[in-house]
Amino acid sequence: MISVIIPVYNEERNIAPLFERLSPILRSVEKVERGYEVIFIDDGSRDGTAQEIEKLRKKDRNVGLLSFKRNYGKSAAMQAGFDEARGETLITMDGDLQDIPEEIPKFLAALKDKDADMVVGWRYYREDKATKRLASRIFNSLSGFITGLRIHDANCGFKALRKEVAKNLEVYGEMHRYLPALAYIKGYKVSEIKIRH
Ligand code: UDP
Ligand code: MG
Repeated sequence: MISVIIPVYNEERNIAPLFERLSPILRSVEKVERGYEVIFIDDGSRDGTAQEIEKLRKKDRNVGLLSFKRNYGKSAAMQAGFDEARGETLITMDGDLQDIPEEIPKFLAALKDKDADMVVGWRYYREDKATKRLASRIFNSLSGFITGLRIHDANCGFKALRKEVAKNLEVYGEMHRYLPALAYIKGYKVSEIKIRH
């Protein structure tokens, strides 16, 4: 079974369009993966995010919602998702459609083909501003230098990981940015795949 973990903060307009694309993909991989669940973590949104997710829950029993009373940040939301996930394989993705659901089968294939414990997306062509791209390059070369894990896009929110890795990580603060490094330091095999952004 796969668990898709999506932290969301004020994403009311994105929930329905995201799920419309996500659900056929999950239904197509479901036969191989024996079921799926989508866990939204509403990180204290002040818009209609929770209501949008509730609408999905009425239509699809595989949708789950965890709600924070206030905004705790993406790491805390991610951790709540990790604690709750029941799948053997976890997918983490952003809720603003910058991560394209159609790439999920590629992640699942890469976990198997590369015999990896975690597969990280590499947005080789980024739809972000130049300043953000530069900050990201500095971040990646610095964290590569410190940890020894040489990947291009360590901060990419789109990832696949085995349940065991998620259950062995504890993230808070801004640590969601360091998931690949943390997994690598614990001895897990981390790979990357090129994805569209
Ligand atoms: N997010 C969250 N809590 C926060 C900030 C963001 O759960 O305090 C969610 C957000 O809704 C999105 C994902 O984390 O689904 C990535 O956030 P954002 O798009 O702001 O990050 P960026 O793409 O700029 O790295
Ligand atoms: Mg974003």
